[in-house]
Amino acid sequence: MPEFEFLIVGGGIGGLAAALALAHQGRHVHVVEKSAEFGEIGAGLQLAPNASHALERLGVLGEISKHAVFPRRLVWGDAVSGDIITSLDLGEAFVARFGHPYLVMHRSDLLNVLLEACRAEARIALETGRDVVAIEDRTASAVALCADGARYEAAALVGADGLWSPTRKRIANDGAPRAFPYVAYRGAIPIADVSEHAGLDNVIMWVGPDLHFVQYPIRRGELFNQVAVFKSPSFPAEDWGNPAELEAHYAQCCGYVRKSLGMINRDRRWAMVDRAPISGWSRNRITLLGDAAHPMLQYIAQGACQAIEDTVSLGARVAATSDVEKAFEAYQAARYLRTARVQLSAQFFGEICHIGGVGRMLRNTFFSAHAPGDYREIEWLYGHRA
Ligand SMILES: Cc1cc2nc3c(=O)[nH]c(=O)nc-3n(C[C@H](O)[C@H](O)[C@H](O)COP(=O)(O)OP(=O)(O)OC[C@H]3O[C@@H](n4cnc5c(N)ncnc54)[C@H](O)[C@@H]3O)c2cc1C
Repeated sequence: MPEFEFLIVGGGIGGLAAALALAHQGRHVHVVEKSAEFGEIGAGLQLAPNASHALERLGVLGEISKHAVFPRRLVWGDAVSGDIITSLDLGEAFVARFGHPYLVMHRSDLLNVLLEACRAEARIALETGRDVVAIEDRTASAVALCADGARYEAAALVGADGLWSPTRKRIANDGAPRAFPYVAYRGAIPIADVSEHAGLDNVIMWVGPDLHFVQYPIRRGELFNQVAVFKSPSFPAEDWGNPAELEAHYAQCCGYVRKSLGMINRDRRWAMVDRAPISGWSRNRITLLGDAAHPMLQYIAQGACQAIEDTVSLGARVAATSDVEKAFEAYQAARYLRTARVQLSAQFFGEICHIGGVGRMLRNTFFSAHAPGDYREIEWLYGHRA
């Protein structure tokens, strides 16, 4: 008999949420995380109603709401002219339509709420400092091997190990993620340092030629999160996307965006990557979730939302049958087209955001006709219930 019932590789947002979803179905779960401590980077996260619904199912929405901000609008502005193009109301009509709110928060706050909920569950064991380097598929069980020689054999294994997932390597073996010439700088600053041009209770996305700049409040409104994305002219040369390129590219932007850029942290940057959707991410007693299964560009802010949706779907399939293989197959069947649509939509949305020339004028004209209370275009995304 394998020593563990469910082993989850990776203790990020997806892994910890999955541990909760499985424990709520009466399963014993062991989570192994590579880092010395569970933690997230110091930046923000947008969670749309499809995710807040799933977080409610996991029993943590109440606690999360204490740390989150409920923005009034999603606003789209032209980064070059400074004009507002369109907006989407997130108020009462939105909540009534989707049943749940749109919220924004600090990543660490979300992870900490999930972590505390896991710690309160007797069926969940958490272990850090476990770098899984290989997965073995034993058909009737699965084995995770760590860099330090530790070995975990489980009746079922969930790879929630992110973009460079060793679990995915065992199942799909589809090489490195696909790299784009775009790079992101991000970080949170005290809200008092920010001007009110964009409205401090909104999520605003400034879009421009080969760039976009996102701003929103987090941590009960105490901090302001900013993300600056642009296309590097020197990709993939060494040091591509460096701060000097960032400055040069944003020189075309309006004064407000340039001033805001001045407050963004330049210490670290993130390359933009995804993978093409796949239909097969479960095999025997191994499955994937979150970025390990369907990594996507962050342009529609759905990577973590989809990871959280996955966990509720996985929990429901595991509850429906005692046959783990059937549960994993049913979970994959329920999720792969949904997540593929989100992956491909994120890519397409990036093209609309980053378009220049006449395309930019066309985009602005087309979207400025959108009414703030018209939710039809986003129904498929935000209205989905995992
Ligand atoms: C700039 C940017 C902005 C974003 N904004 C949003 C947003 O607003 N809304 C949204 O929904 N999504 C957003 N995303 C996407 C979101 O961050 C990811 O989709 C999400 O974090 C995926 O969660 P995950 O748990 O699947 O993977 P990860 O967060 O990558 O977690 C994987 C975990 O597994 C661990 N791990 C990795 N390898 C091993 C190993 N070998 N052994 C053991 N443990 C391992 C890692 O240490 C980590 O803890 C954004 C992404 C970026 C880059």
